[in-house]
Amino acid sequence: MTTAVLLILPLLALTTPGGLLPGVTQDTIRRAGSQELETAPNDGPNQVRTVVLDAGHGGKDPGTHGRYVKEKTVNLALILQLGRKIKNKHPNVRVIYTRSSDHFVDLIERGAIANRNRADLFISIHCNASPSSNQVYGTETYTLGLHRTQRNLDVARRENAVILQEKNYQQTYKGFDPNSPLATIMLANYQHAFMGSSINFAEKIERSFRHNADRKSNGVKQAGFIVLWKATMPSVLIESGYLTNPAEEDYLRSDEGQDEISTAIYKAFLQYKQEIEAGE
Ligand SMILES: [Zn+2]
Repeated sequence: MTTAVLLILPLLALTTPGGLLPGVTQDTIRRAGSQELETAPNDGPNQVRTVVLDAGHGGKDPGTHGRYVKEKTVNLALILQLGRKIKNKHPNVRVIYTRSSDHFVDLIERGAIANRNRADLFISIHCNASPSSNQVYGTETYTLGLHRTQRNLDVARRENAVILQEKNYQQTYKGFDPNSPLATIMLANYQHAFMGSSINFAEKIERSFRHNADRKSNGVKQAGFIVLWKATMPSVLIESGYLTNPAEEDYLRSDEGQDEISTAIYKAFLQYKQEIEAGE
């Protein structure tokens, strides 16, 4: 047994809900969280009544950038358009934004907002970057899990690095080092109870990007994203395209491109909602 394995095992033990505290399950956590908000609707298990929409980055954290545009600006435009589309078609669905303007929100707080509001779905929107080539393009949708490639790990590390800009991050994340592969592996088993639903929704999003927005889909992937870590509902993180690819940047900052991307996500949302509510 190598030193690395010896280090990983105690970390993995921490990641199973039962391992954290005996008898505590995701359901217990969800019920406990549900008591925090008295005005939450009395939603059944097979309903999509509340969706939390998370525009990545914001304020002092611009995310990645292209030649003209910052990631935080594109993310916000896409998330607000998606929210409007959901509200227009489904007035009974509660749409909650983690941010609706250009300000900074801690990563851990984004999932906490979803838990406090007993959300049925958490959607985080980001844009990707390829440091080595401006030719790489296409969409990717992530769920929380163990990365299979170095590139997927790199995406999570880049998106997690923002915690270094948060106040008290040492206390909040208990010494979590976003640059450490081991720390990212530690996150992999969270969201276990929602893995199937999260992957199902992620597949619908990538299919919709291909069919409804004519995008190149790079598929559904897993990696250790802090923003998905504590969310106790199906959760996805969408990389809507590469700002480091000039053509894709032009598309993502155009009105037409933003409308197509947000419409494609909306159509996947609609399909997922109908499927859940039909009890399939
Ligand atoms: Zn991002």
